[in-house]
Amino acid sequence: MSDCIFCKIAQKEIQSFIIFESENFLVFLDIHPHSPGHCLLISKKHFETLEEMPTDYGKEFLEVTHKLILILKSALGTENFNFGVNNGSLAGQAIKHLHFHFMPRFANDGGGSMHSIVKNPPKENLEEIYNKIIKAKESLNLN
Ligand code: 5GP
Ligand code: ZN
Repeated sequence: MSDCIFCKIAQKEIQSFIIFESENFLVFLDIHPHSPGHCLLISKKHFETLEEMPTDYGKEFLEVTHKLILILKSALGTENFNFGVNNGSLAGQAIKHLHFHFMPRFANDGGGSMHSIVKNPPKENLEEIYNKIIKAKESLNLN
């Protein structure tokens, strides 16, 4: 996409600190790091959200993540990471080009876990929400 900053980074039209590159993916340092080594993994092709990325990217994606973790572990001396996607604007996605955050974690760094992102438990009980999800799965024929 012509006005997408991450497409421009992928095409090397905008400078970034590139850590790793494969045929379809690029990893670079986040410009406003929340921890030392905070980096972003993007697909070179523009997808807005995770569900748009074709499943045949899966193997290469996992290979890149494994290599990235090895590199960051060795460089930064930690075995602890949070990784995740802000998928959609309500989930905090500011850049509309799918990206996976990798945040190395350190002792006493003041951060939280995935549980600290949101505290909005369902009003329904677990069985009700489960039934809703299973009904959707069946109507979408995604068994
Ligand atoms: P989001 O909230 O969309 O998940 O996060 C977007 C991330 O992209 C932010 O952490 C932000 O610091 C990073 N970012 C935004 N613009 C640039 C840029 O031009 N270069 C780099 N390297 N990172 C960027
Ligand atoms: Zn893009």
